[in-house]
Amino acid sequence: MKETEKISGKKLLIVEDNEDSRELVIKILKNRDYQIIEAVDGEDGLEKAIAEQPDIILLDIALPKMGGYEVAKNLRLREEFKHTSIIALTAHAMKGDEEKALQAGFNGYISKPINVRELPEQIEYYAKKTI
Ligand code: MN
Repeated sequence: MKETEKISGKKLLIVEDNEDSRELVIKILKNRDYQIIEAVDGEDGLEKAIAEQPDIILLDIALPKMGGYEVAKNLRLREEFKHTSIIALTAHAMKGDEEKALQAGFNGYISKPINVRELPEQIEYYAKKTI
């Protein structure tokens, strides 16, 4: 993706089992012109990603049924997801996690709790970043 290209108008999939977190992200992005799709666990996330082909995926790490790392690895094995922006969302902001996320195929890493003011810019930043 070119640096000058605007992210607005893109299809964004949020994969998050915590309803409050999911709704917070949707609320923050409400006026940002994203087409938002929701998934509630790892399997649901994988299925919806394949069915909907989103431009950006916000993917929680700790998820029921299939963890975020496994979802990301599965997606990156598919040709159509080679260049999709996949961003990790997690509360486990420990040393080494960012490297682990990058190795699993994530473009970047956003730690929870979600920063309401910074989230849109964080998404735009990682969505522009090539892996
Ligand atoms: Mn979770």
